[in-house]
Amino acid sequence: MLSPDQLAKALDVFPRVDAVHAPTAVEKMARVGAQAGLELSVKRDDCTGVALGGNKVRQLEFYIGAAQAEGADTILITGAIQSNFVRTAAAMARRAGMDCHVQLEERVPGVSDLYRTNGNVLLDHLFGATVYSFPVGEDEEAADASLAEIAAGLKAQGKRPYIIGLAASCPPLGALGYVRGAMELVAQGVAEDFDEIVVASGSASTHCGLLWGLRALGVSTPVYGICVRRAADIQAARVAGRLADMSAMIGVDLVVPAADVRLFLDEREGGYGQMSAATKAAVLSAAQLEGLLLDPVYTGKTLAGLLTLHERGMLAGRRVLFWHTGGQPALFSYADAFVG
Ligand SMILES: *Cc1c(COP(=O)(O)O)cnc(C)c1O
Repeated sequence: MLSPDQLAKALDVFPRVDAVHAPTAVEKMARVGAQAGLELSVKRDDCTGVALGGNKVRQLEFYIGAAQAEGADTILITGAIQSNFVRTAAAMARRAGMDCHVQLEERVPGVSDLYRTNGNVLLDHLFGATVYSFPVGEDEEAADASLAEIAAGLKAQGKRPYIIGLAASCPPLGALGYVRGAMELVAQGVAEDFDEIVVASGSASTHCGLLWGLRALGVSTPVYGICVRRAADIQAARVAGRLADMSAMIGVDLVVPAADVRLFLDEREGGYGQMSAATKAAVLSAAQLEGLLLDPVYTGKTLAGLLTLHERGMLAGRRVLFWHTGGQPALFSYADAFVG
């Protein structure tokens, strides 16, 4: 177990740019909570400050820091068409005076025209990112290989590209942003006010960073990951692997027990980016009971998962912190599902 100072020191060796508007607020979700019979609060990481915010700002502080340390002039990233990571990387690249090349993967079947032009795609274009499309959505290796080819082309032109690598074989730099997120929650003096933290689990950088950071500081609050992309067993293996990678990368001898890796996927949910009735209901209830915007891909699904866990008796009597990870720009690409 480390003190906050010791942990901060362990992270100091990783280059980082300062971008997050921190600390983000912790607020009550009194009416959604009351309706469900639950004591519910929200950590407002939708308000991290850069280009409409979200969890990728914390993660990109470290990627952009690493890119600058290598003398890069161009950021490369691959993601879903409506990726928040891609949009935020483009913004963070510009903020650091760099170019950005983005590869958008066909990960969601049967999408509307708005999905291809509005929301995050609109913002990618505003930031002047060079956009490539990639025909497959669930082949991480092929997408990474294609990105590497783009990087090779840029190098041949004399550019200095930096690839933001998100595959399980790449160092989990982004998770460091959420080790800092865990430190922030502890510094806010509220970590002990919650019996349960619930967060979306996608690449798992957020989930792993929070869990690893809390345990490194000796805080035992459970962290529940809601699957937004993969089945729970596959995701659990990914999280466990990434947690071990983090200990090795940071150089801290911390073993997070397997029992601490908790994942939930409601079997009624569709695949990545497919909004179920429960997710739509969660987006609407946050909006109409709290004036709080969630998104259809991550945070709506996460609140829906949280409420389902509660219905199944898993959160009875627990004080729950829902960690908002942003994503609202994608709402504008799902307008067809809400209007008309
Ligand atoms: C990327 C993203 C997530 C998932 O975070 P990971 O760190 O990839 O697990 C959750 N919510 C939003 C809004 C995101 O953009």
